[in-house]
Amino acid sequence: MAITLPNHDEHLLIGGAWTEATGGERFDVTDPASGGRVGSVPNGTREDVTAAIDAAAAALPGWRSSSALSRARILRKAADIMRERAGEIAETMTAEQGKALPEAKGEVEYAASFFEWFAGEAERIYGEIAPPMNTDNRVLVLRQPVGVVAAITPWNFPAAMMTRKLGPAMAAGCTSVVKPASATPLTAALVLRCIEDAGAPAGVVNLVTSRDAGMVADTIFNDPRVRKISFTGSTEIGKDLIRASAEQVKRLSLELGGHAPYIIFDDADLEPAVDGLIASKYRNAGQTCVCANRAFVQRGIYADFLALLKQKVEAMTVGHGLAEGTQIGPLINDAAVDKADEHVQDAVAKGATLVTGGVRLTDGEYANGSFYAPTIIDGVTREMDIFYEETFGPVAGLTVFDTEDEAIDYANDSIYGLASYFHTRDYARLMRVAERLEYGIVGANAGIISAANAPFGGMKQSGYGREGGSVGIDEYLDVKYVLLGAVGTV
Ligand code: NAP
Repeated sequence: MAITLPNHDEHLLIGGAWTEATGGERFDVTDPASGGRVGSVPNGTREDVTAAIDAAAAALPGWRSSSALSRARILRKAADIMRERAGEIAETMTAEQGKALPEAKGEVEYAASFFEWFAGEAERIYGEIAPPMNTDNRVLVLRQPVGVVAAITPWNFPAAMMTRKLGPAMAAGCTSVVKPASATPLTAALVLRCIEDAGAPAGVVNLVTSRDAGMVADTIFNDPRVRKISFTGSTEIGKDLIRASAEQVKRLSLELGGHAPYIIFDDADLEPAVDGLIASKYRNAGQTCVCANRAFVQRGIYADFLALLKQKVEAMTVGHGLAEGTQIGPLINDAAVDKADEHVQDAVAKGATLVTGGVRLTDGEYANGSFYAPTIIDGVTREMDIFYEETFGPVAGLTVFDTEDEAIDYANDSIYGLASYFHTRDYARLMRVAERLEYGIVGANAGIISAANAPFGGMKQSGYGREGGSVGIDEYLDVKYVLLGAVGTV
């Protein structure tokens, strides 16, 4: 089937105006499945980042003093507009990111749900009246917007990683500057158009696309008007941002890498466990921060589990994300394919068995894209890179275990602490294991765990701060204590 790619040129959004970069440069956005051109965006400069901060700072007084109800209405309307435009946004997302179109449509819905959820939270930013120590006084606790925030987002969920920052920021009364990943800036622009068309005043959200992420970060971190940065991306860059934040003591939220364990106990229901691992592992071709990267399967169920997993994985359709029936699209680029292949080759060289896949797909329809076959490797041990490193590709590594303690020990043996999963029908074990896993998110008998109404975030080197849930808005609020003296005792 011939694929028609979108042809979409976008702009910076600064103070309500869609503009070119001051330097006049643009860069192309390409389709990782075919190498074809999808569109282009301006290559923003330091002047553009500063102009975006100027616009956000100028819009702040009006926005933070607007009523919670009016902010909530704009967020709800933005969600509605995103849904009306879901087809266009999803097609553009698939074209620039690669994920299969049904997944892209699912992401648009997921992304819109953050606007809706935080519209509700905007209306419930309550303060407190605390009992005073001195009865002549009164103690008030206010929760106020932190001010101008910057959001730096990754390419793997180009819409949702942005809306789960902008939703709470807007709800809290903050104004924002967004720097999307340079691989997926078009989706970001389409989402910001929804916010603008929903009636957000000029400057409440601003967009700077740029190939020079270091320059953008440097400008943001050195501008005292930016009070908070929310970053989703790799742990390596996250650590750089922690160092950069020290100079002006910037508030940070960091959603970083993951390396999820997926445990299947003997008493699990076989088919839901296999389907759960497949959903967790192969979604977005294995490029999610909550992807299972290590599967630990108890000895009694191991053979059946592996056989069913192999059968289902081999039946998956790999292709262009816009092609009918595609389940797994390309990886984001050739470097990502190299990394997945290195993990497989390293494991096999150290004694693992290749069950299926383990090859780059380079012929025919795959010739110009970054494709890797859905892969299973069996017999993974601690000596192998895949045991400790995030693969970010469609590679499932399996390890057999005997006891619950052994499974927990394997699972917690990681510098990361984002998502974890396990399957069991034993309710006592379910509670025990959930408590013992050192991860911010635990899926018990579930392979898909992300939702706007739940707090999402990691422990250890997966970062700090939470997005979503009732706590997500706290990241964008300052707590202020006001002592009212000499009120009198009643
Ligand atoms: P990345 O390379 O760290 O990039 C993330 C963002 O940071 C992009 O916008 C990137 O811009 C920008 N960036 C690059 N260099 C920078 C610098 N020196 N200073 C400031 N920003 C910089 O990560 P990625 O490859 O896009 O995303 C994959 C990683 O994100 C994985 O580790 C994954 O686990 C993690 N992730 C975590 C979560 C979570 O919620 N915990 C969710 C999704 C992804 P350019 O694109 O222009 O380079």
